[in-house]
Amino acid sequence: MKNFTLSCVAALAALATLDSDAADLPSGYWPVDLSQPILDKTRTIRLAPDLSELTDGEREAVRQLLEAGALLQQIYEDSRHPEARASLARLEALHASTGAGPATGNLLDLYRLNQGPIATTLDNRREAFLPVAPEAPTRNVYPQGATREEIDAFLATHPQRRDAILGERTVVRRGTRDDAARDLAVLRKYPVLDTLHPGLAARLRAVAEDPARHAFYAVPQSVAWADELMAVYERLNRAADAVESDDAEFARYLRNRSRDLLSDDYESGDAAWVTGRFNRLNLQIGSYETYDDALYGVKAFMSLSLLIRDAEASSRLAAGLASLQAVEDALPYQGKKRVRENIPVGAYEVIADFGQARGANTATILPNDELFSRRYGRTILLRENIMRDPVLFTNTKSAWDAVMTPAQRDDLRPDGNFNRTLWHEIGHYLGVDRDATGRPLDEALESTADSFEEMKADLVSLFAAERLRTAGYYDDASLRSVYASGILRTLQSVKPRREQPYQTMQLMQFNWFLEHGLITFDPQAGLLSIHYERYPEVVTSLLREVLAIQHAGDRQRAEAFMQRWTAWTPDVHEVIAGKRRASLGFRYVIVTFTAIDGGG
Ligand SMILES: [Zn+2]
Repeated sequence: MKNFTLSCVAALAALATLDSDAADLPSGYWPVDLSQPILDKTRTIRLAPDLSELTDGEREAVRQLLEAGALLQQIYEDSRHPEARASLARLEALHASTGAGPATGNLLDLYRLNQGPIATTLDNRREAFLPVAPEAPTRNVYPQGATREEIDAFLATHPQRRDAILGERTVVRRGTRDDAARDLAVLRKYPVLDTLHPGLAARLRAVAEDPARHAFYAVPQSVAWADELMAVYERLNRAADAVESDDAEFARYLRNRSRDLLSDDYESGDAAWVTGRFNRLNLQIGSYETYDDALYGVKAFMSLSLLIRDAEASSRLAAGLASLQAVEDALPYQGKKRVRENIPVGAYEVIADFGQARGANTATILPNDELFSRRYGRTILLRENIMRDPVLFTNTKSAWDAVMTPAQRDDLRPDGNFNRTLWHEIGHYLGVDRDATGRPLDEALESTADSFEEMKADLVSLFAAERLRTAGYYDDASLRSVYASGILRTLQSVKPRREQPYQTMQLMQFNWFLEHGLITFDPQAGLLSIHYERYPEVVTSLLREVLAIQHAGDRQRAEAFMQRWTAWTPDVHEVIAGKRRASLGFRYVIVTFTAIDGGG
């Protein structure tokens, strides 16, 4: 395997050989002078949890699940760009045939960082660094070149196809004889998929017979990536066999989930996952998050996280969740609900992440599906070895210090980030989860849904903080640290792109906080101050707006609100972003895992 750590020696060598090396690369491959500035702003961290306590069976399960992860990684890359996998194969061949030089080595690092051939540049543009088509909103889950207008027009005349075309776990194709024939061949190759998707073969035959009448059609993910998912099915069942005697509930979950991946219906696996009591290992697997779909924001992309539980930290967390219903009851909206008392929340060390889950994300709450979460609850997975990583916190703190008034700099501590993140995840449990007409929010708010849902979770976390102080869950310093973390969360290093739901909603919070006096900016010093006494009122006022928009399920209103609160000005936002960029030791993180990348 490649070693992704870029040493200073390698960097110098890269500069020294810039000319000859660049000349050797075929066109479309970025030379070192384009790749190096991004990699100079990239650090590699390595996650290496202690697995010595695992039984032999658990160890074998880990091996099988890591193989499943590698397969899902392939699907993820393929689903984000039609040429991803082929371009990687060509790059690897080029790297080998040209003597493994720094230019191609850099490009392999960029591919790993971006999980595909499109890089995020230092000024936050998305550019191809390999000879492939530019990134398109269709990614590779809608037909290349398709537009919303075109698909909307088809749906207007074929409303009965809407659920399939805009399904979370389907891939959309243009109706051509060849594509339909290829999909039919998959059903013949794997009769289990034919059985699990009644009616699909007949629909595909209809497309093949008369493609002109079917401008678009959809196939389930299991059919789109049948070879890979059949192999994942096998790995999960082998892992289940391996842990059967040590952890029967985990084994049952793995078997349920293996079937889910073939049926594209996650209910049984989600139920077994969320309500299961597992010994040590845990696994997030499947397609859940829709962030990568830039066309409609409805398609979920593949991920796998293999985790090992920190038993002591987990029981401390569970004890802290007593006041959940009280927080729900206090939220500024009508129509309160009963929240589950017993939320499964655990602190974990990440063994390895794949696909959409790979990166420095600090926590997860799943499933998103409103019906499943109402029936079974949702599980919260706090990713401790990322949250506690000293390299990451030091970097965060230096960019914070650069823009904060000196007296408030040390208000930010790692525990503030931990608690704010925990309550962000819990925040997804609370508040509005369907619009007034009963539609799920993803369906009602479409591409704006993620931003509003994430903003709600952020604000609930901050809203709950004062009550948690009163209840003795926080002391004064930890409350202040949560509040400081809430401001940190809103600070940007570059102007967000609209399709970045997190950054967009963070900017909206920042602008609301600034206009309502929770924070002030001193243009002379270029520093921010927090007015802590304003915190409860200002957070509540924005949370009220967010809940109202979710309740109304009104996409136009959501768009307008977003438009109003995403201003970016040269004298405030750009000043802060510039100071942050200058003080950040790095902007991008390549996360590596001892379990798959080796080393120590
Ligand atoms: Zn969230």
